[in-house]
Order: sequence, then C-alpha cells, then structure tokens
Amino acid sequence: MKPSTTDESRGSGGPLKGHLLPPKLDILAIAVHPDDVELGCAGTLLMEKMNGKKIGVVDLTRGELGTRGTAELRAQEAARSAEILGLDARENLGMADGFFRNDEEHQRLLIRAIRKYRPEIVLANSLEDRHPDHGRAGHLISDACFLSGLRKIETVDDAGRPQEHWRPKYVFHYIQDRYYAPSFVYDVTPVFETKLASIRAYSSQFFSTEYGENEPQTYISTPEFLNAIIGRHQMFGKMIGVPYAEGFITEKMIGVRNFDAFVQMDT
Ligand SMILES: [Zn+2]
Repeated sequence: MKPSTTDESRGSGGPLKGHLLPPKLDILAIAVHPDDVELGCAGTLLMEKMNGKKIGVVDLTRGELGTRGTAELRAQEAARSAEILGLDARENLGMADGFFRNDEEHQRLLIRAIRKYRPEIVLANSLEDRHPDHGRAGHLISDACFLSGLRKIETVDDAGRPQEHWRPKYVFHYIQDRYYAPSFVYDVTPVFETKLASIRAYSSQFFSTEYGENEPQTYISTPEFLNAIIGRHQMFGKMIGVPYAEGFITEKMIGVRNFDAFVQMDT
C-alpha cells in the first residue's frame, strides 16, 4: 500500500520553523485532529510549561474532512494556537483524516516523530470516543510509543540519519468528548483562560461571532458545545476541590515519590 502522506504534506508549523535540530521535549501531546489537544489537554501542557518543561504537539492529520473551514485555515488556526500555548514544537504528519489506520505504515511514521522529540510523557487521544478517529488514534499512539522502544525497528530522521530507539515512560489518554471515569485529574485552574483562548483560535470549528462564512453548524460549532467543555472541566475540578481540571486515563500504574505533588483540598 502506498503511504497516505507525502513529504510535502508533512513539515513543521509555528514556532519550530527554522530550527535545524528538533528540541528534545519533556511532554509531547499527539492528536488525530488539530484542535483535539486544545480541547483535551492544553491546560496540562500550559501547567507543565510553567513548570519549566519543554512541550510540543504532533497532529496526525490536517482535519481536512471537517465540515467547516479548510485544511489551510485549520493550519493557520493551529499555528495561532501554538503561539498561545507557547509550544516548543508543533508538527503535522499529514495522515489521511478519517482513513488512516493503526498499521505498520502509520506506526512507522509516528515512531519517527516519537524518536525525533524523545518525550518522557506522551498525551494521547482517548482509546474510545464519539469520533471513531479518536479511538483509532489512541490505539495507534499507544502502539507506536511501545514499538518506538524496540531497537530492531529501524527508522531515519528527516536528513536520512538512523534514529535511536526511544520509549516514553508514560502514555496518558486525555478524556475529550464522551465521558469516561478518569484515572487522575490535573488541576489546570491557573491557565484555564489561556486554554479557552487556544480553543477559540479555531474560529472555523467552534462558536465564534468573528467567523463570517455561511457554513452548516456542526456538533462542535454551537455555543452549547463550548459551555459543555467548560462544564466538563468544572466537573473534573470538583472531584479534587479546584475550579477546573483535565481528566486522563492511564493504562499503566503511576508511581509516586512524594505526596506533596498531590492537590490536598477538602473534598
Ligand atoms: Zn477530533
């Protein structure tokens, strides 16, 4: 089967442009559609950034099947959001929206990206969600993170040089649309307004009085959708006694060294 992407459709967006060597990242968020990260885990990225960590995003597709807007507009919106979030890198792998598969070809593409950025922690789409792309991407990301650690899988970087094997220590799946009970929730209260601004950067996708195109409304373009997103964060926040939190599911046991890292509120 021919790869569903070309070298031209890949490439770096936003602040990464011009860097010859990609930065090693601490946290890499991976998402099938540009805007999934903003909805699911932008607050956590912002908090980790405040904590001195290097953060980045890899989008698998350009969201070209979205009912509203175009792939080009979506790329501009993603670049704008990357500025708002202060990302150290953002890249689009140019897989086919709706039709990518969790198979060797796509796993190898993603392994290249994981080995390029060498993150300790990966934030990934949910393993199951309203949009079937999300669940398929969640499994693709989990599998690629594991396979990336196998030294006998050989890959090369953008310059054709062999890459070192690399396995992220944790993969956490951000809860996006359908509700699932989280394994843990992350207090994002201090950065919640910035997270909302990163979502609003996608004015073609979500409710915005500035978007003038006469296109059909979608499940996510109504004011109610954004209100529900805010409500979800409040619900996760309430579980730990803070105003806003993001929820994650881990497939692996989390190890703790220090109880001081815990939010300790009266709940
Ligand atoms: Zn999506």
